[in-house]
Amino acid sequence: MPKPGFKSITVSETVYDRFQEVYQKNKAGLAMKGVNSFSGYVTYMLEESMQKDKTFARYAPKIEKISVDDDRVILKDNIKNRIAEVAVQRGELFCQLCDEKDCVHVGFVFSLPDVYEVLNARGIKHPK
Ligand SMILES: [Zn+2]
Repeated sequence: MPKPGFKSITVSETVYDRFQEVYQKNKAGLAMKGVNSFSGYVTYMLEESMQKDKTFARYAPKIEKISVDDDRVILKDNIKNRIAEVAVQRGELFCQLCDEKDCVHVGFVFSLPDVYEVLNARGIKHPK
C-alpha cells in the first residue's frame, strides 16, 4: 500500500523498463532539476506532457503544422489565414510572421512532441 497522499498504478513491465532505462541514463541531469527518484521522474514526465497537451489543445484548431525541416517549421495560422515560418536562429526559435521569439506560433512548435524532442536534444528551450 502506498503512503497517505499517494496512489499506486500498475503498468506493464515493458513500459516500466523503458522509463527506468531513460531515467537511469538521465539521472544526473534530472537531479539538477530536482528530480531525485524514479517515481519523481515519472511524475515529472506526466506533468510535462499534460502541460504540452494543454498548449496543444489550446492552439490545435487555430494553428496547423504543415511541414517540419531541420531548422524550420512551417505552420498555417487559421485565424490570421497566413503561413507562419518558425526557424531556429542563434539557438532560439524565431517566428518570421510575427517577428518575435515568443508568440503563439513558437509556443505551438514547442507543443509538438516530435519537434520538442529535436529542440530539446539541441538544447533549445522555450523562453518563459
Ligand atoms: Zn508568430
